[in-house]
Amino acid sequence: METGTKDSISLAGHSEMFSRELLNAIPQQIWTTDEQGILNNVNDQVSRDLGIENQVIISAGWSIFMHPDDLSHSLANWNESLETGHEYVNEVRLRFADGYYYWHLIRAKRILHNQGYIWVGSNTNINEQKANESRKDEFISIASHELKTPLTAIKGFTQMLSRQISETKASSFLHRITSQLERLEKLIADLMDVSKINAGKMAFNLAEFDFSKMLRETVAGLQQVYPKYQLILQDQAPIHFKGDQFRLEQVVQNFVANAVKYSPDADLVLIKATLEQDYLIVSVTDYGIGIKPEHLSKLFDRYYRADNSSARFEGLGLGLYISADIIKRHGGSFWIESEQGKGSTFHFKLPLSVGQTILPEVKIPDRYKDKYISIKCNNENGIMHVEWYGHQDMHSVKHGGKLMIEYLRNNRCSKVFNDNRAVLGTWSEASDWAANVWLPLMELAGLRHFAWVFSASAFSQLSAKKSVENEEATSDVRFFANAENAWQWLHALSPKKS
Ligand code: ADP
Repeated sequence: METGTKDSISLAGHSEMFSRELLNAIPQQIWTTDEQGILNNVNDQVSRDLGIENQVIISAGWSIFMHPDDLSHSLANWNESLETGHEYVNEVRLRFADGYYYWHLIRAKRILHNQGYIWVGSNTNINEQKANESRKDEFISIASHELKTPLTAIKGFTQMLSRQISETKASSFLHRITSQLERLEKLIADLMDVSKINAGKMAFNLAEFDFSKMLRETVAGLQQVYPKYQLILQDQAPIHFKGDQFRLEQVVQNFVANAVKYSPDADLVLIKATLEQDYLIVSVTDYGIGIKPEHLSKLFDRYYRADNSSARFEGLGLGLYISADIIKRHGGSFWIESEQGKGSTFHFKLPLSVGQTILPEVKIPDRYKDKYISIKCNNENGIMHVEWYGHQDMHSVKHGGKLMIEYLRNNRCSKVFNDNRAVLGTWSEASDWAANVWLPLMELAGLRHFAWVFSASAFSQLSAKKSVENEEATSDVRFFANAENAWQWLHALSPKKS
């Protein structure tokens, strides 16, 4: 009995060592967090890739190594997983020791461990797949442009010919040619839109417009295209909206065209626009083939087509992907209710006030601006000039703080002129994070001297002081009531000197 116990102890020790060695040998980043999502363990592959000791990575968390453009969606998904317990799956770029970002597929699952939950995650390097994807995108972009030029010429000549020909049979053929050309034009336009989205070059022209009128005219136009269907516009509230009219029209057209296309045995499509709280909600209902639950969350992905439609209905699987991008770029969201065999309702929701997402107005290597923060790096004197605006909260401070780290490091600045004069109210909820996570990482990124120009708000001043309360800080942080004095102090320090 006694021997048995000894054996099991040594076996347990052996197996623990084996697991550790195994984890460290896996060429994939493996990690765990506690139930609240706080990182508490990483395998050696993580430090090999990131070039930083495991303990530092654990105390900093993943977000600091992520590309700033991937942060907000990754955090939103992570918070959602923490709330629901559902698996977390995301693709993000992680910054490696060589200074380059590499695409990773991050997955994490919640498991029961010692009567509580923990999260076990893996980060798989998918940089090669992403590179291939972008080669394919580039090809599609070139091909669609090349296809467009002859198509435009054919369309022009067909129109000229239609004006010349009066013979009934010939003009009916020309009519058919024109409608096929329009289909081809739509396919090419979708391919070009996808290329623009992938390259981050989809431009939006925001202006105030009469949304109700746009909806009325779009539905009337589509009714002409689909005379066999009954398109009914319901509950039209008078709505003025600021957005890109052409692109939002495209979303409505796509939803309605799908409602028609996927209703081979029904002829009714209901379109509804309502105002709820601060949102405009548009819904398109059909009584068509419906969608199986397992497809619902994937329909807005690029090239995705549900199995019951791919063989029977033509299409590239791009319309909803493009619509999703347009809606997201307006700060909105979308969702679907559907029952297979009974029909579907596609909804999208747009905020009437400015959305919660922080959209950059300027984003170039040495300059950044959004409605909360502006960052300018001067590579000559090594000073990063930062201005904060308006009311700040946890979300905006973390967002701005992470950008500061990124810009400081990339531009090799060591001094910061941090101007809080335009800040209102308090942002105390973020000060602990700033002191314990942000400041050490700023120092790791190269910070030596930090001139903090106070806001007039006493609450903001308190938040600022709390933000640098870190006994281990190695940089020289000074507060100034007067911006001139802050500049003088920074300029008196020799350029780029630590
Ligand atoms: P496409 O229609 O060209 O395939 P979309 O991106 O517009 O591309 O739609 C993606 C997929 O979503 C479709 O292939 C189809 O499976 C499904 N879908 C879209 N709208 C509907 C609808 N109203 N009813 C049923 N399925 C739909």
